[in-house]
Amino acid sequence: MPYGLGIAKGMMVTLRNLVRKPVTVQYPEQRVAQHHRFRGEDFVWYEERCTGCASCAKYCPQGIIKIVTSPSGEMTQEGEKYHLDVFDIEIARCMFCGLCVEACPYDALHMGSGFERARPRQSDLVISVDELKASAKKPSTWFRPQLQDRGYDPFQPGDDVTWQDAGREKTIAPTYEEMLQRWVQGR
Ligand code: SF4
Ligand code: SF4
Repeated sequence: MPYGLGIAKGMMVTLRNLVRKPVTVQYPEQRVAQHHRFRGEDFVWYEERCTGCASCAKYCPQGIIKIVTSPSGEMTQEGEKYHLDVFDIEIARCMFCGLCVEACPYDALHMGSGFERARPRQSDLVISVDELKASAKKPSTWFRPQLQDRGYDPFQPGDDVTWQDAGREKTIAPTYEEMLQRWVQGR
């Protein structure tokens, strides 16, 4: 290599980055746009859909969901819906895999979209049932394509999402005509 070529190449890299538009922003005054499928560090929970079955806790590979239930006397014909006494999620150990959401048979639990829940103490990083009850119903569109299809964005101001809109059973299930088209006529 000719003498000085390495220095020239290094200087070119420096010059190129000198005129490049910065990719950093002055957070929190400035914010980068988050993707609507972003799996945040909070959860959206629809109490009216939760039966206390604890499937989410059983599927969590980290074992960080603690559920304590008691008989509620509601929906006894269907097998009884439990009352949730404790529903703690130890968010400090969560890896945001979403398996708890996938495991929920009643679409009661959804990934949230927040990212500013930092706390000085690990013991404060537990989402309690009261926090779940009070949290805004702004689920991530991850695992909820119907929300994405209708242009919903959890980072935009707007109404909370109802469980009917967020759930899979009514919105994703194809109609008879759609199934006919997909599996019979379309073949
Ligand atoms: S996202 Fe994953 S690690 Fe976090 S609570 Fe759910 S199953 Fe557990
Ligand atoms: S959130 Fe879903 S999986 Fe978890 S206890 Fe409630 S109904 Fe069961």
